[in-house]
Amino acid sequence: MAVPILLYHQIAVPPSGRVPFRSMVVDPEAFYRQMEWLKRLGFQGLSLREALPYIEGAKRGKVAAITFDDSYENVYDHALPVLQEFGFTATNFVVVNQIGGSNAWDAPNGVAWAPCMSLEQLRDWVDLGHEVGSHTLDHVHLPDLAVEEARKQILQSRALLEELLDEVVSSFCFPYGDETPLDRVLAYEAGYRVATTTRRGRARQADDPFGLPRATVRRNDSWVHFLKKCLAG
Ligand SMILES: [Zn+2]
Repeated sequence: MAVPILLYHQIAVPPSGRVPFRSMVVDPEAFYRQMEWLKRLGFQGLSLREALPYIEGAKRGKVAAITFDDSYENVYDHALPVLQEFGFTATNFVVVNQIGGSNAWDAPNGVAWAPCMSLEQLRDWVDLGHEVGSHTLDHVHLPDLAVEEARKQILQSRALLEELLDEVVSSFCFPYGDETPLDRVLAYEAGYRVATTTRRGRARQADDPFGLPRATVRRNDSWVHFLKKCLAG
């Protein structure tokens, strides 16, 4: 069956003015209403790990995977309580060298500074049944790197997360959605079960599990846009 994998970045009141990537900051109230829509439509919101059997056809049911890229602290503050209220789980893709840090990789593009979750916050996230996945060590453009460096970003980030959180890490997310067939192989070899891209659409059994498509939820999405992302594509 086709499973929407929703992609969020920040959940916060966005900075004012025309700053780059402002559309990636979803208002907490809008996020609440979107989770309410999922519930109303009969979707169970699940982490990627829990949604995978539905994508692969081993389980049947109406599910939507919920993913957050970059592990922003405002996701912990504003999204986590909502997920708890609705009984949903979600996946948080962590930039491992920025645990307790910030979106330093975005600074050259003029994106507003935003803190990333601390290790304690990540531990809470995991303790509440949510998933942590890897988004590399440094939020790199993998295709630009030499193979050994790309392998290190993919493999070491997983090893470090598993050590820090005492949890199996099985999901990977390509920063910027940038990847080559070789990067997918590296993710497979590093021991992940799935990897997500920014290719649009719902995930299906026929998809390469190391290139799963997602639906980006943007700040200005109306409820009609949101429902289309859940129900079509
Ligand atoms: Zn990212």
